[in-house]
Amino acid sequence: MSESKTLKIRDIITALHNHERFMVFTHVHPDGDALGALVAMQLILRRMGKRADTHTPDPFPSEYAFLANVQEIKNKVSESMDYDAAILVDCGDLERVGDKFLDTVKATPFLINIDHHLVSKPFGNASWVQTSASSTCEMLFDLCMNLSLAPDRALATALYTGILTDTGSFRFSNTNARVFEVISALVGFGADPARIASSVYDSASPEKLKLLARVLDSMELHASSRLVTAELSRSMMSGSSSNYMESEGFINHLRSVKSADMAIFFRETGEGLIHVSMRSRGDINVAKLAQRYGGGGHRQAAACRIPGDLRSVRSMFIAEALSYIKADNGDTKSDVK
Ligand code: 5GP
Ligand code: MN
Repeated sequence: MSESKTLKIRDIITALHNHERFMVFTHVHPDGDALGALVAMQLILRRMGKRADTHTPDPFPSEYAFLANVQEIKNKVSESMDYDAAILVDCGDLERVGDKFLDTVKATPFLINIDHHLVSKPFGNASWVQTSASSTCEMLFDLCMNLSLAPDRALATALYTGILTDTGSFRFSNTNARVFEVISALVGFGADPARIASSVYDSASPEKLKLLARVLDSMELHASSRLVTAELSRSMMSGSSSNYMESEGFINHLRSVKSADMAIFFRETGEGLIHVSMRSRGDINVAKLAQRYGGGGHRQAAACRIPGDLRSVRSMFIAEALSYIKADNGDTKSDVK
């Protein structure tokens, strides 16, 4: 373990020891790593004898309902609790905690940040940002080891889930030997790969697949199919019992086109904003492109939100992405998703 990583973990551990009542948060529209880390952080804190409440402003995808204690996740901070610290996990910048919680988090006496996003603005009184980590859950595994805390099955399952989903089932370029070492240890601690994969990937509703069919029908190919785009409008969702959250993994189908160097999925959020999700292969750094619009993420998976209507945002952004690809934007690092 590198010296600076050891020092950062030590800072985090000191901060955990020095406080008693924690609020735990993650990014809006939480994915598998966000929820896995949220749940795992609570389990770790409780093992340390601390009070810990988990929060998310948004409903979370039902495929993660098998994670421990998800029924305890709050969408409001309890006013009767006198919290003395907050922890943000997997949250690239402070604002990603969501408007609902931002003021509370800013006002907290002590803030801890644990994250692995490439475009990450460090914040907090103790901050451990490690972009070389596959996932925040991989970092929390390291935290456990440094606390000499052997994960039980529930904790191992939460950590496994975050690593599984943030590596795209061990397919993305952030999958390395270290990931498999951690995964192997987590299976030893009781994580069940088949059960977790089945909960996460084989629990779709028929309506979700129908919605996917509509999204794929909106697919367009650009620049000799180097760029693949598709969209999900509010009208495509109306009349479907499926919802916005269930479309989280749809972009992976666009990315699976052989010739695609980049995939973009445009979703109408209903708040006058278009959520632009990007995935790339090779050297194209989509986090940098997302950053132009106040977003961020990882080299090969990033997002931003752009105000406007679906049609004009889609055509404007496609033009921008095409010139970005042609300018060969990227850099030489290939260690992070
Ligand atoms: P998605 O396309 O799934 O919404 O986002 C892709 C990745 O980018 C996820 O890891 C997500 O957490 C991250 N991401 C999305 N929006 C932002 C943002 O505004 N800032 C940062 N730092 N990361 C983001
Ligand atoms: Mn993550």
